[in-house]
Amino acid sequence: MYDYVIVGSGLFGSVFAHEMKKAGKRCLVLERRDHVGGNVYCEEKDGIHIHRYGAHIFHTSNKKVWDYVNQFVEFNHFINAPVANYKGELYNLPFNMNTFAKMWGIVTPEQAAAKIEGQRRAAGITEPKNLEEQAISLIGTDIYEKLIKGYTEKQWGRSCTELPAFIIRRLPVRYTFDNNYFDDEYQGIPKGGYNVLIDALLEGIEVRTGVDYNRERASYLDIARKVVYTGPIDEYFGYRLGHLEYRGLRFETQRYNEVNHQGVAVMNYTDRETPYTRSIEHKHFEFGRQPVTYVTKEYPAEWKVGEEAYYPVNDEKNQALYKKYKSLARNEYNVVFGGRLAEYKYYDMDDVIDGALVAAERER
Ligand code: UDP
Repeated sequence: MYDYVIVGSGLFGSVFAHEMKKAGKRCLVLERRDHVGGNVYCEEKDGIHIHRYGAHIFHTSNKKVWDYVNQFVEFNHFINAPVANYKGELYNLPFNMNTFAKMWGIVTPEQAAAKIEGQRRAAGITEPKNLEEQAISLIGTDIYEKLIKGYTEKQWGRSCTELPAFIIRRLPVRYTFDNNYFDDEYQGIPKGGYNVLIDALLEGIEVRTGVDYNRERASYLDIARKVVYTGPIDEYFGYRLGHLEYRGLRFETQRYNEVNHQGVAVMNYTDRETPYTRSIEHKHFEFGRQPVTYVTKEYPAEWKVGEEAYYPVNDEKNQALYKKYKSLARNEYNVVFGGRLAEYKYYDMDDVIDGALVAAERER
């Protein structure tokens, strides 16, 4: 009946479905939740798009992906310039001349570089073996202690000495007064919110929400030539080799009768004691002028099987287990595994879209 059953309607599933429909294939999208869009889904309240599953800021240097998404929705000129709040002291992020000037009272890039070099040398790290060593050798001890250590340990529930160095390499370090969090060429938020993008991708495609494929697999066995699976890879295999671990998140959203509550879309709380990592004032993603505002506090949480999975924990133990699942997946000839959960990857949105386009291309 169908060429493809696509499990999951997040970015991977939606882009793949769109491409296959364009190629004349019949697709059925199955979604476990009661709405499409995966974690980019937004809920609208008082005209404000609330990023229900955490803030999503689109940024890419991949022109192919940027042109691709712009076919479906226009992007605004939002630039992420988060502010770090360390016990009431405010610092600009990412680490740049504004951060250094506030931290040390220095004025020139040369002074900042000398300060960082001095702290780096004092720490005596030659080859960073973990996130702590990587951070200190990148940016020195002061910034590590005030802006990285607490935030990272809260977010991952582990000590920085037990975390892989690559996590921190996501963050730019700049000797200019530039508060743009991302180095990418293109950035913005879809005008009208992410649902506009997802709805455009899925236009004309049959979607069934509230369907848990892993539970109801028997009913979908013979209705499609191929399956595209974007759910957790270990769940697909009935956890037969064990459970992959994730970091969970809990969100607390409050409505305020105020025009502007925190003055910025993203404020990071970088001390260890504040239990949340960041607070998001959603309206600022779209330059909203509504008389009310919504602010979401993001609490990192232990994750248990069955709960919403957010960040894959890409440590050695979990990567080794993922590799074993990946070999099982290679034997599923009629199944394509893709996206954050099926590839167990700390994925940015643009790379997910690129991955889906590549997977779709392979089917041609
Ligand atoms: N990070 C930090 N302090 C901050 C922001 C980020 O130490 O104020 C570190 C932290 O280790 C985090 C990583 O940078 O896990 C990646 O942060 P990012 O904001 O890119 O994470 P995401 O937006 O993907 O949750």
